[in-house]
Amino acid sequence: MSNPRIPRPFFCGNWKLWGTLSDSVALATGVRNAVAAVTAADVAVGPGFVALGTVADKLKGGSVGVAAQDGYWELKGAFTGEVAMAQIADAGATYAIVGHSERRQYFGETDETVARKAKAALAAGLIPIICIGETLAERDAGRALAVVGKQLDGTTSSLSDDELGKSVIAYEPVWAIGTGRVATPAQAQEVHASIRGKLVQRLRARGQQIRILYGGSVKPDNISELMKEKDIDGALVGGASLTVDSFAKIVQQGVTACTRS
Ligand code: PEP
Repeated sequence: MSNPRIPRPFFCGNWKLWGTLSDSVALATGVRNAVAAVTAADVAVGPGFVALGTVADKLKGGSVGVAAQDGYWELKGAFTGEVAMAQIADAGATYAIVGHSERRQYFGETDETVARKAKAALAAGLIPIICIGETLAERDAGRALAVVGKQLDGTTSSLSDDELGKSVIAYEPVWAIGTGRVATPAQAQEVHASIRGKLVQRLRARGQQIRILYGGSVKPDNISELMKEKDIDGALVGGASLTVDSFAKIVQQGVTACTRS
């Protein structure tokens, strides 16, 4: 019998701008049924805001959690179109993705706004999934570790040690998101190890417990190799989380790969 992996693996779907309410409920309940036997990992789905509360109701009491794809730092007020972290928690979510590269690229998010969102998520009782990652130009210039390190500092230095200890970090190289071009396990591990190093430098042993997810064109046929890497604790999955079959395979094969001896 193999030892449970520490930190506990986590697989989170990010459905982006996808699906009607009935599509969302069907996908969420399909995922719940397909991964019902998985006990060695946490699993969540990431519906759009309109479906979030209904999906959370359907999944209530089960083992699959719900992640919002964003959230705002203010609690209430004249912020038309925004959704407060407390509203997200009230709707039944457990996680909030913050700082996804699409939010940074298309909606002007910065490390500073991402930090505020992460802090607000924690204050609302949510677990933030804080996304960081370099562009292709930054990688080609040999700056991947420096860029990711700066983003990690910029998004987490305002969190208390306790808050950071509760958070999830997602390393998502921008050049790998939705492109079909996955980072090699060695490329991903190099960045994850440097993130781990910074977390351990700040939090000592607790830094070893923080989940660092990889995201960027994760598929059933590449998850096993990624999960064998020491500091890859799970995945944030976009396109391949949109069918029950592919997301369930990612969860099942990912768990098998990292718990095998
Ligand atoms: C994502 O949306 O966070 C993501 C990694 O997308 P994809 O898996 O499609 O590359």
